[in-house]
This record gives sequence, C-alpha cells and structure tokens, in this order.
Amino acid sequence: MTRLSSIRMNHLHLSCDVCGHSAQMPVAALIDAIGPETTAHQAAGNARCSRCKVKGQNTFRIIYVGEGWEAMQGARQDR
Ligand SMILES: [Zn+2]
Repeated sequence: MTRLSSIRMNHLHLSCDVCGHSAQMPVAALIDAIGPETTAHQAAGNARCSRCKVKGQNTFRIIYVGEGWEAMQGARQDR
C-alpha cells in the first residue's frame, strides 16, 4: 500500500464511478486532513464526490508532480 507520507509531493486524482466527475488534490492537503499514515487507497475510500455526494465510489491514481530529481530522491529514501 502507498502511504500518503511517501507521495507527499504529488497529487491524487479521483474520478467518480457514478457521475464521472473528476478532481485532483495535493497529497499534502490530504495529509493535513487525515494524516500521513493513511494509504492512498483509504483516502480514496473516504473521499466524497463533490457533485453527486456518493462516498468511496471512485477510481484514483497518483499524479507525480514536481522536479524529477527530488521525486527520485524521495522514492529512494522512502521516508
Ligand atoms: Zn459523483
């Protein structure tokens, strides 16, 4: 499982399976809300669609953003 703390610099993209609405949010904001030990899967399961209000019915993917060197550095240290 991917902990939010290990993808802190990236974004989470959620797409609602019910109405098709999609949204993207910074992982850092999720960490502030639900904590760094939460997994990306759990975060998606707790997310509620802002359009149709259905909870947890979504497909998520991690959007890697930022500088490549820093991203690789973070992955290697795995902290
Ligand atoms: Zn929806």
